[in-house]
Amino acid sequence: MGDTIFGKIVRREIPADIVYETDDVLAFRDLNPQAPVHVLFVPKHAIATLNEATPADAELIGKLVLAAADYAKREGFDKDGYRTVINCNEHGGQTVFHLHVHLLAGRRMHWPPG
Ligand code: AMP
Repeated sequence: MGDTIFGKIVRREIPADIVYETDDVLAFRDLNPQAPVHVLFVPKHAIATLNEATPADAELIGKLVLAAADYAKREGFDKDGYRTVINCNEHGGQTVFHLHVHLLAGRRMHWPPG
């Protein structure tokens, strides 16, 4: 699997607005926010897409999703609510091939998404 811009952010080779970190997960603000709050949660160990995830990644993916929920609670987004999204491949709208969870908050979300 090739390296991506998120791998460079995880290794601190390029800057990012980092807002949350654990041993396994890094979170930083999206450069092109789609909501008042738009944060990306990435596992430090890269998985390209959800298609490449295996049962061996279950704990890591659990930690990734729980990190987003922990951050949302910490910032007080839990009461009004928020959205988490994982895009997969072209039709899913994935552009960076290092699995990540989008956390969108700060406004009412629409359904169905486009
Ligand atoms: P996706 O389309 O699901 O792969 O999401 C990739 C997201 O990464 C997009 O929302 C981009 O705006 C965002 N993005 C790309 N490069 C950077 C970067 N260097 N720092 C922060 N966000 C980025």
